[in-house]
Amino acid sequence: MNPTPYKLQKTDVRMDDGRTLSYYDYAALEQTPPFLELHQGAAQTDPPTGQRVLEKASEMRWNPTRAEWTVYAAHRMNRVQLPSRDACPICPGVLELPLNYQIAIFENRSPSLSYVPGDVSIPDPREAFELTVPARGRADMVVYSQDHDGRFAWMALSDVYALVEAWRDRYSQHIALPEVEFVSIFENKGREAGMTLDHPHGQIYAFPFLPPYLEKQWGQTQLFGEKNGGLWNQVVEKELKDESRIIAQTDGFLAAMPFYARYPYEVHIWAKRDGVSSLLEMTPQERRELAGIMQNIAQRYENLWGKDAVYGFPTLMLMQQLSKQLGAERFRFHIEFYPLQRSPEKLKYRASIETGTGTFLNDALPENQAAELRAAAPHDVALPDVIFE
Ligand SMILES: [Zn+2]
Repeated sequence: MNPTPYKLQKTDVRMDDGRTLSYYDYAALEQTPPFLELHQGAAQTDPPTGQRVLEKASEMRWNPTRAEWTVYAAHRMNRVQLPSRDACPICPGVLELPLNYQIAIFENRSPSLSYVPGDVSIPDPREAFELTVPARGRADMVVYSQDHDGRFAWMALSDVYALVEAWRDRYSQHIALPEVEFVSIFENKGREAGMTLDHPHGQIYAFPFLPPYLEKQWGQTQLFGEKNGGLWNQVVEKELKDESRIIAQTDGFLAAMPFYARYPYEVHIWAKRDGVSSLLEMTPQERRELAGIMQNIAQRYENLWGKDAVYGFPTLMLMQQLSKQLGAERFRFHIEFYPLQRSPEKLKYRASIETGTGTFLNDALPENQAAELRAAAPHDVALPDVIFE
């Protein structure tokens, strides 16, 4: 059956303190968009002009012993920490989001990275001591749904697909900014993963530099070059050939526990196609598949131990994508999931050796755990019954 064509409607609003807020809702073409009534009163649909300038923006300092930046956001110490359900600041009608919504993306009230006027260039830090520069960039909240008790794994699949489209839209905005080098779309799910609000949400950080791990991945991408199809084609091909760590796949994506997994139950989802270095290069069909395979993995995590999972399977999720650097089309869009639980009652800690040396010790072989995840239904990747045009 052909999917129903929909369009995703975006409504830009300026918040009281100057922050930008975008609502994303969808409606079938040639129908009265059912969501529009929800937005009555939201008359400020002009795209925001200008930018909020924080009184005290974050700064970043160069660490010459590790050759990396650390971001200092002292103003974040006072931010809301696990408020009660009634005081949730991202429920509709409360503090941040006065109206009903489907998906909302807005600038964080206490951002780690923000707009700072002036020259955006960063001095060459390589041999610098005590170098401090403003932490330019953006930090967004991405609210997946207005349902406080909703969960990504159990959202309607068409809503997950709308979320993929909203991520992509925001990504394209941020990566175009002159001060931005890298955009991270991520989620800290579960209190043990550092989540400060229970309401389902993720975040986006737009960085003014390429963070160390991405610099390494990009370095390896360049090292392999076009040899035997390059780094990412070989990673994907070897997983496909071995089969033992595969969890799910579609025409466009492969989800597997990588041969080199550092965390128990770590799953990566790679785009299979050459040239897909970010959400921007994906076809609408690939974006539907991405929604399906992301939710497939999320459901497996929820199902793995069910109610026996003492901590509710806290998981870190990051989308790794490069689209600005020279030749970044050789990079491959992928998602990395890091579950922080290694058994129904035990958490996986990033302990001394992991933190102090960067070398991980994994108590289990990915091949064995992949079998457990494969057995945690569902088996097939479902596709949303809509397509956005
Ligand atoms: Zn809420």
